[in-house]
Amino acid sequence: MGSIRLLPEHIRNVIAAGEVIERPASVVKELIENSIDACAENIRIDVLFGGKKLIKVSDDGCGMDREDALLSIQRFATSKISKIEDLFRLHTLGFRGEALASIASVSKLTIETGTDSSKPATLVEIKGGNTPEVRDAPPLKGTIITVRDLFFNTPARRKFLKANSTELNHIIEVLTFEALADFKRGYKLYADGSELLFLPQVYEPRERIAQLFGRETLEHMIEFEDETDDLKIHGFISKPPEIRSRKTGQYIFINGRPVKDYLISKAVYDGLSDILPKDRHPLFVIYLSMPPSKVDFNVHPTKREVRFSEAGQVYEFVRESVLRTFKVEQRIEIGIPSSTPGDILSNTMQPSGSQISLSGETKVNSPLVLSPPTISELKLFEGYASYGEHKSFIPFGDVFVAVRDEKGLIIMDKHAAHERVLYERFLRGQIRTKRLIFPFQVELRPLYHRLLLQSESLLKELGFEIEEFGSNNLLIRSIPEIYSDASIRALLEDIAETLKDFKEGIGSEPLYDQKRHLAATLACHKSIRANESITSMEIEALLRDLFNTSDPYHCPHGRPTMIKITLEELYKRFGRE
Ligand code: ADP
Ligand code: MG
Repeated sequence: MGSIRLLPEHIRNVIAAGEVIERPASVVKELIENSIDACAENIRIDVLFGGKKLIKVSDDGCGMDREDALLSIQRFATSKISKIEDLFRLHTLGFRGEALASIASVSKLTIETGTDSSKPATLVEIKGGNTPEVRDAPPLKGTIITVRDLFFNTPARRKFLKANSTELNHIIEVLTFEALADFKRGYKLYADGSELLFLPQVYEPRERIAQLFGRETLEHMIEFEDETDDLKIHGFISKPPEIRSRKTGQYIFINGRPVKDYLISKAVYDGLSDILPKDRHPLFVIYLSMPPSKVDFNVHPTKREVRFSEAGQVYEFVRESVLRTFKVEQRIEIGIPSSTPGDILSNTMQPSGSQISLSGETKVNSPLVLSPPTISELKLFEGYASYGEHKSFIPFGDVFVAVRDEKGLIIMDKHAAHERVLYERFLRGQIRTKRLIFPFQVELRPLYHRLLLQSESLLKELGFEIEEFGSNNLLIRSIPEIYSDASIRALLEDIAETLKDFKEGIGSEPLYDQKRHLAATLACHKSIRANESITSMEIEALLRDLFNTSDPYHCPHGRPTMIKITLEELYKRFGRE
């Protein structure tokens, strides 16, 4: 007896929903994109409990008649394409006809929609993908879609949802992306009844950037445009002090669609490689346009990934326009030795590990695995530190210092070492606070504003005195002495990101409470900036401080501060065992 059967429609939809609808934010994304496709001018989003209880998207778009409203919740029902060729000249965000069917299968969905404000509208109700109920609704031009109790019938998925505030953060991020893609529309976001974002229609992307990130951030961004026969770019990239130690605030749009694209992102970093310090990340908003035939959006159900027909050409175009723009802008003064091309990428895109691979013609099969030095080997460093044999420190690269003896080499990462030292000082309250004579005001995006205020007392323990100052603004009254005022805004944003990670439970292992987590962020911020050309005396001081910490071998994130390469290891590598 055969055991294969065709799955019933509602199971197919739940399966499809698995790919498209991961969390409330994915619902928000799909509904907003539908409103955009319906040519709405104003879109309002209401959410309750981080969208878990309710998500409601109301628009003033073209609306649907009754027949379409019923069809819209069927899988593969779309008004946006009808022929295969349409897939390659898309002008709409949706085209797969699966979002509403997927959402309907895992929630309680209501669609109120109408095409004429003087005629009765339609109300469709569907629960967990069952048979829909239809009735008349009061006249309406536009559509209101309400999604209640997401995943109520798929508890396994509901279990994966995070705290309401975390889910809300994801929603804000989705809305930020959509609102940047589409600045000519007005957006409002209400969470649990209070207004979180109010973005009236604007006519320039720069205006939307200012609405979302604040004027000050915009002022520190370089705007540029470039064009070839069929490629066009309009971009905004931040320069110091709006440079982060984390990769956030990077938005890419292709033909008006928000995408996550590694190639474009790499092109931007490569274009900046001469001026962007290692481990530092710019904010950017990049709008690219190209003929629809050159890019395929039908790669993944969420439509966030793309494939280019001429990837190399796109990469070169973006890299060169970024390079040219920043050359003209003059070399940015960053106070840190510039890194060599390629560094940025290898640093940010690859996990750092305790392995090095040798370049050149010699092919090494297994990478050289390095171990932390033992205490007695470290005496080497200590010895140098106390006897001051300066010439024995060999600096190389931006961050390393090496010392050798007859048994091998020990290499220290200055950043990592400095981070460890600062980290412990922060935790022990040994970092002095500087009270600002003129408290200064920073404008932050609503999400950050909220997160920082929620942790006000913790921040105070670490040397930051902040105060609410109207919507989206904070007044900074004091800061840790080691920072310059100019870097505070980027620092606060990094802190907010850390707080956000913390809420999401992403904290890296050795950091087990919030204060440690923040101290690590703070230490990382300063030590990266402070690393110009360090003198031998400073290295000695650093070493002395390092040996006074609880774990001289690791930075607060658990990366090694030192490694050794023994002579035996070298003999082995050179086949002289
Ligand atoms: P897709 O967007 O890929 O076409 P969806 O399942 O998201 O698929 O939507 C199905 C159809 O429902 C759309 O093609 C559109 O015709 C209609 N629709 C959905 N949302 C709206 C809306 N807010 N206003 C007007 N029509 C809508
Ligand atoms: Mg859609």
